[in-house]
Amino acid sequence: MNTPNAEWRDLDALHHLHPFTNHASLRAAGARVIVKADGPYIYDSEGHRILDGMAGLWTTNVGYGRRELADAARDQILELPFYNTFFKTTHPPVVALSQKLAEIAPPHINQVFYGSSGSESNDTAIRLIRHYWALKGEPSRRVIISRKNAYHGSTIAAGSMGGMGHVHQHSYPVYEGFRHVMDPCWFDEGNDGESLDEFGIRAARAIEDEILAVGPENVAAFAGELVQGAGGVKIAPNTYWPEVQRIVDKYGILLLADEVITGFGRLGTWFASDHYGIKPNLITFAKAVTSGYLPLSGLLIDDRIVEALLAHDDDFNHGYTFSGHPVACAVALKNLEIMERERLLPRVTDYAAPALARMLGKFKDHPLVGEVRSVGMMGAMELVADKKTRRRFENPGRVGLICRDHFFREGFIMRAVFDTMVCAPPLIWADSEFEEAERVIGKALDLTLADVAGEIA
Ligand code: PLP
Repeated sequence: MNTPNAEWRDLDALHHLHPFTNHASLRAAGARVIVKADGPYIYDSEGHRILDGMAGLWTTNVGYGRRELADAARDQILELPFYNTFFKTTHPPVVALSQKLAEIAPPHINQVFYGSSGSESNDTAIRLIRHYWALKGEPSRRVIISRKNAYHGSTIAAGSMGGMGHVHQHSYPVYEGFRHVMDPCWFDEGNDGESLDEFGIRAARAIEDEILAVGPENVAAFAGELVQGAGGVKIAPNTYWPEVQRIVDKYGILLLADEVITGFGRLGTWFASDHYGIKPNLITFAKAVTSGYLPLSGLLIDDRIVEALLAHDDDFNHGYTFSGHPVACAVALKNLEIMERERLLPRVTDYAAPALARMLGKFKDHPLVGEVRSVGMMGAMELVADKKTRRRFENPGRVGLICRDHFFREGFIMRAVFDTMVCAPPLIWADSEFEEAERVIGKALDLTLADVAGEIA
């Protein structure tokens, strides 16, 4: 750890393969070395202070540098650093966290199955959904319908349930039994003259069309992120989720809500399912349950599925060594306590979400910006070549990267999803952070515009 800065980059390039990375360009440029973090800021090895508009990776909802979380981890490590939850054993932190999660989850949900990553929890959901239908005597129900542009993780099953072509294309086919329908993003899919509400119904009916095409007797579940995050903060119109609920109820199929990003306050409610008023049978979570301080994920399971498990003298042959890791559970409990004590959920609704919407809204007339949108503490700006027609730039992702680099040089992180600039700040942002972000966004957009001026309609 005493290695000089420049060498860290070289050593990293030599020995560390990064997720979702072009390794040739990383080898050429070297990685950015982040050495510490505090509150809303991260710091790199060259001493730059950077405002983190992505909360790590949709993760550090309570911000960095929370001593209480470090103390909770330390105390638990000294008490019981690890024991498994296989073979009919348990321990106090996992019991306490499960009780807490049952308390804050929708009322029909009372059980949790743990993992360490969102991908694992989605894999758990896929296996449990199919197991459930087998137990119910309907083993033909195996198809899971999800959406294009969805991101549910990188394991082979979660990657197949996701709907990203560039994830699917790597060395494995999409697993059998997954079907993808349109996502409910008006900016990409809406027709001129079609209202948002009409579009929301049309997008939901694409699910019903797929159910009928596959045969309802073969459909196990519909799975969706309540807001598509990694796909570019694609926010469904208000009509969408109620119509999805109507459709899944009509055909008796299970509803899996992937709340890996939206869980734990991002929309001002514990779960975005509460925000949208839907009743999923299963909810996957990860990331912000510990504010990212330790890896922990889980699957919340409703009473209907648990009753089916209890009615059969049968094992669910599935689990991870670190299911319900005691230290991660202790940190999660403390994290949820902080969120409650500091009233972060009402803070999002009453202050932070409107502040984010206002800040992004200031750029809607910028020549580069085709649309701004946000819900809760997640938002996006579409960079386009032609504002009127929503025409995108050639070589998707090129302009997004130019803009992202300008943000970074100005000391601010927003993520580029192709040419969609995405942000999801920690829930603790105050006026000074919103003002700082607004200054940087304005400057970075102007610099980007100067770089691509010749391509603008
Ligand atoms: N689901 C959603 C909605 C996500 O955004 C992600 C990751 O960003 C995952 C699942 C996968 O989580 P993990 O990277 O922890 O496996």
